[in-house]
This record gives sequence, structure tokens and C-alpha cells, in this order.
Amino acid sequence: MRAIVLPGFGGPGVFSCEEVERPRPAADQMLVKVAACGVCGHDLLNRAGHFPHTKLPAVMGHEIAGTVIETGTLVTRFKPGDRVAVIQRLPCGLCSLCRAGRENLCVSGPGFYGEEVSGGYGEYVVASERNATLVPASIPLKVAAVLSCAIGTGFHALRRAALQLNDAVVITGASGGVGIHTVKLARLLGLRTIAISSSESKVERLRSAGATDIIVSPDMNFHQKVRAMTGGEGADAVIEIAGKPTFGSSVRSLRAGGRMVIVGNVDPGSVPLNPAMSILKELDFIGSAHATLADLKKVIDLVARGDIEPEIAAFLPMEKAAEAHAAMEDRSTSGRVVLTYQGSDG
Ligand SMILES: [Zn+2]
Ligand SMILES: [Zn+2]
Repeated sequence: MRAIVLPGFGGPGVFSCEEVERPRPAADQMLVKVAACGVCGHDLLNRAGHFPHTKLPAVMGHEIAGTVIETGTLVTRFKPGDRVAVIQRLPCGLCSLCRAGRENLCVSGPGFYGEEVSGGYGEYVVASERNATLVPASIPLKVAAVLSCAIGTGFHALRRAALQLNDAVVITGASGGVGIHTVKLARLLGLRTIAISSSESKVERLRSAGATDIIVSPDMNFHQKVRAMTGGEGADAVIEIAGKPTFGSSVRSLRAGGRMVIVGNVDPGSVPLNPAMSILKELDFIGSAHATLADLKKVIDLVARGDIEPEIAAFLPMEKAAEAHAAMEDRSTSGRVVLTYQGSDG
């Protein structure tokens, strides 16, 4: 099959277009012809070498939708011709996490697309009944590709935040691919949404996504404004999508008893945390990883009903993977960039 291959870690220019062996599905897997694959901030970090467990040469990409081509003998719920989207990981289905519906955390299965498993920058991937779901005809596959990550990640994080109607939530990195959809979901949930953005140019977009308040904070110092907007109390939760650059101000934005849901870390590394503050204010720190299959199914329902509209900055042919990475790296895009395979169902 054709694939955009990462031969070694480096800048956007390292990709090469090659013929590689097509992944072979096991008895409980199916072969999926990739229609489209979203480009994620996670991909940029992986390409640059921040996930050293990635097996090189790698075929990256975990935001995948396509058509089932063949099914293993143990697959009963899908058939050739089915249009499917998958979650980011191929889980085992047997471990205690998988059985608890937390297959996003499974480390016993084949693994994460683009790291342990050949990903969607290739023409074919393997998938299973445990990580794939049908895409209704009303959603094009090139849109379905981003639903697990660009929308499902925020969906999962808001579920972890367990907020109530009219609670105040701060969303950092709000104008990025995950952030903008998290703002839309927060609006759907009836939350008071305070979006943090580093640039004035993103304000209009955040407002039309449904943000109640927008704080433009190039210096990533926004907690005083959050407190002023919440009657001096602070927010009920922060959805921390930016990570290290915003973390300090995010913690200070929380009210006593507030929850910090950590979803992203654009600039890998550690953050300082004063234990006294989390003790005295009884702050909850909650991690949130990707999305589960249940999350993806619910996101597909929301999109099919028109309750949330996916924001996609550009569709590019797969051969332009390097260009997509370069554009995302200098933040010249708003929303997801999706790579498509020509001839695949839209
Ligand atoms: Zn992603
Ligand atoms: Zn498992």
C-alpha cells in the first residue's frame, strides 16, 4: 500500500511517500481502507520524537475513518462496505479497564495508531469491533475522521469534569482543534464558558462557537480576570488543553473545591504545583485521555443531529502531510487539517 512514512524523528520535512506492506488483520480484526485521517497536535509531538516508544519507521495518524474491506472470521458486527470511524487506540477488550468501559487506557491491546499500530497516513489500517463504529450516510468520512479526537477528546474531558447547568468552566487553548469543539460542547451543556486564547484574532470565532466570555491572554496570566468574572470565587472547573504554558494561571482560576481536568500538554514537560493550594482549596486534579468508543458513538449522534458542527480548516491530499504539519506548527490554521486519500468515499 501507499503510505506517508516517518523514517526518523524530525521536522515536517522528514516524511517520505513509500510503498509499504499492508497491515494484516487478525481473526478478530478487519481491514479498513482509509478515506481520511486528521492531523493532531499529538502527531506533531510524535513526529518530533517526544514519544520514544514509537516504532520506527512509523506510519502515523490516529484520527481515522474509512470503509471496511475484509473482516476476520470472529468479526460479526461489521461487513465489507461498512463506513466506519475508529477511536485512537486498538484495545484488548479483556483487561479490567476494557471491561469497565475505559478502553482508552488499555495497554494490553495492539496499541495506539501511529505508535504501536500502523496508522491512517497509510492507505489501510486494521480495526476491531472494540474500537470501530458505523458512520451514518449523512456524515462524510472525511469529517467522521476527526470526531473521535477533535470532538471526542473534549466530550470525554467534560464528562470527567461532571459539571452542572450554569457552572463556570475555563477552557484553555480554546481556539485550537480540540478547544473550539470543547467550547461548542460546553455551550450545549448549558455551561458558562470562559475561553482563553493567546490571540485577539480568534475572538470572533470563539464567540460564534458559543463562548460566554473570552479572555485574550498572550502572557498566559488570566486568573485575576476569571475571578473577577465569577464574583471573586473562581471557576468550577478548568479544561486544561494547553498544559504547561497555562497551568499555573489555570490552578489559580479555580474556586475552592474546583476541578482541573488535564487534557493536553502542547509543550511537553512538568509544571510546578504548590501542594498547599490544592490541600487548602481541596482541588481535584483529573487526567483525561482521548475518547472511548462510547464517547465516539455519542459524538456521532450529536453531529448527525446537527447539534454540533465540526470545524475543519482544510482538506489536503495525503501527499501533503508535511505541508499540513508545517501549517499546524506555525499555528496558521484554525480547526483540524484532514488528509484524504483520493478515490475514497468523501
Ligand atoms: Zn488526535
Ligand atoms: Zn484492555
